[in-house]
Amino acid sequence: MQIRLATRTLRLRQPLRTAHGTTTERHSVEIAISDQGLVGHGEAAPLPGFGLESFDDALHSLQEWANDHHKFPTSPAARSAALAALDDLADAKTNKVKPPASVLVQALVGATDLEGMKEEIQAAVRHGYKGIKLKVGSTDPETDYRRICEAIELTHASTTLRLDANGGWSAEEAMSVLRPIESRFVDLIEEPTSNPSDWQKIADTTGLLLAADENLVNEKQVEGLLMNAAVGALILKPSILGGASGTRSIAELAAENKLRVIISSFLDGPIALRAARDLAIELAPKEIHGLGTAGLFVERFPKDVTPDQGYLHRS
Ligand SMILES: [Mg+2]
Repeated sequence: MQIRLATRTLRLRQPLRTAHGTTTERHSVEIAISDQGLVGHGEAAPLPGFGLESFDDALHSLQEWANDHHKFPTSPAARSAALAALDDLADAKTNKVKPPASVLVQALVGATDLEGMKEEIQAAVRHGYKGIKLKVGSTDPETDYRRICEAIELTHASTTLRLDANGGWSAEEAMSVLRPIESRFVDLIEEPTSNPSDWQKIADTTGLLLAADENLVNEKQVEGLLMNAAVGALILKPSILGGASGTRSIAELAAENKLRVIISSFLDGPIALRAARDLAIELAPKEIHGLGTAGLFVERFPKDVTPDQGYLHRS
């Protein structure tokens, strides 16, 4: 078995501002494991602000593994990428054929100014997206309230609207922004504050469905989130949750607890997006997933991970 690594930089067309800061480019390590003439691919791209290892740490631990196969990476992004590459190799070895399928993905809207946001939403609706996720929590609450009202205006007739605060609000800010919003116009909100113990109060006050994302960076946290009655959905990122097998086991627990599961990427490159797309098709084929990010990059992504009328297609 041979492990080869390559680093890659992907540039965003426009800086993406979230409560964790501004992202302008993504650095990834692409893994190719070859054995018996077959190759498995994986990709690690830790995103700052999510409690993960740094890019340099991920690269270092993957290099150690490439040099000594007994040194399997232990940090979340590197470990998940290594597991994904091994999964992919195992699929290649068993000659497993994945049938053609399509899955809905959402457009990510990050512009903080009202005009820019309107243009992004209108473009997404025009391009056929059935779901839009609006980033909130990185500007002042007053502006966020106006942005959400405008987003509802533009989407309510045709398109599912989701919000993601990335934990950027206090409980008071979350409630002041969300209380006047009619819950039927918003499908869910991810991470209204960074502390899940705030969430019951927020759910009761606003009537919105709450989703956990940053609070779900390892399997150990699942138990706590399942006990939290305010959580209605889990955003699962295979690229940090241990690849396909780690994601499947959390999805099973979610199903037992009647929680929705949405598969998401980390503004990932093509390899991680493809693996996440396949899990989305397998685990939640009717949901709209957080995998519609290819168009945000300057670099052109392969067709099978680039949204087409709001879908990713596996041919
Ligand atoms: Mg999120």
